[in-house]
Amino acid sequence: MRSIKCFCGACELMLKQSTPLLRQFCGCKDCAQGLRWAASKGGPKPKFLPELIYFKSDITCVRGEMFMKPYKLRKSGSSTRVYCNKCYALIGVDNPHYQDNVFLQVLGHFATDIEFSIKPSAAIFMAHHLSTQSAEILVDIPIFNSFDNPDDLHRWMTITSVRDTFKAPERPPSGRSFRELIASFESIEVLNLQVGAEPT
Ligand SMILES: [Zn+2]
Ligand SMILES: [Zn+2]
Repeated sequence: MRSIKCFCGACELMLKQSTPLLRQFCGCKDCAQGLRWAASKGGPKPKFLPELIYFKSDITCVRGEMFMKPYKLRKSGSSTRVYCNKCYALIGVDNPHYQDNVFLQVLGHFATDIEFSIKPSAAIFMAHHLSTQSAEILVDIPIFNSFDNPDDLHRWMTITSVRDTFKAPERPPSGRSFRELIASFESIEVLNLQVGAEPT
């Protein structure tokens, strides 16, 4: 059984299905801010452009739950990020849009024995992130600056892996879902970080 682990070895999620459903780049400010916050607490330094990976939300076994803690960047924030409170590896992220079919991870921010042969399908929220550095990474994949225009959202949703990721689950998980894991914690800590604040 393949798993997601933290770096210090305290936390582990065993996955029913370890092949990710989707891999994509994200240039949004929240992804960057969450990763920078974790780095400031001792977690890994984020890459220039975060590479997101979406796993089926079906966890057969959880180890080290007492070392995991859920956070929101702001009270109004829709994403809940779970970190290891010892090494600040990312354990996973939930968002209402995921419908508990998947949960999110970020490459380089967790340890694993999973090999990723899946290729990136898209790059999203790139409006503030276009540079020569990102241009080198983003060869041959569709780029979406924002989803302010419904046509862009529609175009993104026509990508098969995207459509298969962001839909309601076809059957209940055989283990626990990531959302059920979050619900088992006493509370979610709100970090009250400033919107889009740059690193200090
Ligand atoms: Zn850890
Ligand atoms: Zn993002």
